[in-house]
Amino acid sequence: MKITGIDCHVLLAPNFNPALTSSAQDSFIVVVRTDEGIEGCGESDVNPWIAKTCIEAQGTHTMSQSLTDILVGADPLAIEALWQRMYVGTCMHGRRGAVIHAMGAIEMALWDIKGKALGKPVYELLGGLHQKAIIPYASLQPSGSCFEEYRDSLCAWAQRARELGFKAVKAEVTMNGPYAHSGLNESYDRHTEVVGAVRKALGPDIALMVDVQYMWSDAPTALETVQQWREFDLYFLETPIWVDNLDEYARLHDAAPMRIASGEWLATHWEFEALMDRGKIDVAQPDVGRVGGFLEAKKVCDMAAERGRIIVPHCWKTGLSVTATAHLAFNTPHCAFIEYLPPHLCEEILRRELVEEGFSFAEGRILPPQRPGLGITINQDVLRRYKVA
Ligand SMILES: [Mg+2]
Repeated sequence: MKITGIDCHVLLAPNFNPALTSSAQDSFIVVVRTDEGIEGCGESDVNPWIAKTCIEAQGTHTMSQSLTDILVGADPLAIEALWQRMYVGTCMHGRRGAVIHAMGAIEMALWDIKGKALGKPVYELLGGLHQKAIIPYASLQPSGSCFEEYRDSLCAWAQRARELGFKAVKAEVTMNGPYAHSGLNESYDRHTEVVGAVRKALGPDIALMVDVQYMWSDAPTALETVQQWREFDLYFLETPIWVDNLDEYARLHDAAPMRIASGEWLATHWEFEALMDRGKIDVAQPDVGRVGGFLEAKKVCDMAAERGRIIVPHCWKTGLSVTATAHLAFNTPHCAFIEYLPPHLCEEILRRELVEEGFSFAEGRILPPQRPGLGITINQDVLRRYKVA
């Protein structure tokens, strides 16, 4: 089998609003075509215009090649060797960041092809089923342009998630710092008030995580607030500090009353090595597309197992990425939860409309996908409707 072409789709929700701080308002979808008629689909959480350029750009140097030139004519089933050719062949303009994120979408599509060619779900090809069911956490982003609206919308989503049977919920509570939602600028005490209100809305039996999205600059400042959050029994606290301040992460790990999670933006397992060993994070959050694909994500999972850390993958995209994340989780015994943006509890139309997930969800659990490859179906009408490049 040979690769004959790669179609890059830039999708954009017409009602997108940068103040929502949601990367699910656009998408980067790749379709890898082969001479045997099998097609594979992949997605990555990356600026889609940049990712398209990463794949289609020309090159004039052996160490700065065109990804399209590397791929067309290659064997799509030799995934590891092909990933290495892409990684080395783009090292002068890639190695990290957007090029790796774009390669992650291609690698995901290659596994989809391989699964379809061999008649097996992707988790089988990754090493088999190591969990009978996966527990997704409902990832909830509040709306509203003032404190009260923000708090109340989050509590309403949380209550709804409980009614839908979710066993775990993550609340984004970010009203300050570089990622502040809707331009809010509230005190840290008000963050404590929101976390307390969400815990009250959920009751004691549902696991609760909190994401503050890089709100604090150092560990002592973060600790002044999060020491008070012990009573809320959080499963983890996500990205409390800017991702490059690894020594501050380590200090927070040593003193905080809950697990510290990070890693959503990282590319390759090399970046996770630093986050785990120097940053001492408790929960690693690889994003299958961004980290570079399934094989890089698996390396992160293996590194976490060696170090006694937990895996909870990041995923804030359509049902394609959600399904890919589920395949990884089914193969990973120490994957405690996966992130799940519930289509019925979010504003993002691409999440709601583009992809039919490859698994069933019941009583708060995801059951193993059965179809070959990723097992997803893209709605072609929706793809055409929101395609802008
Ligand atoms: Mg996050």
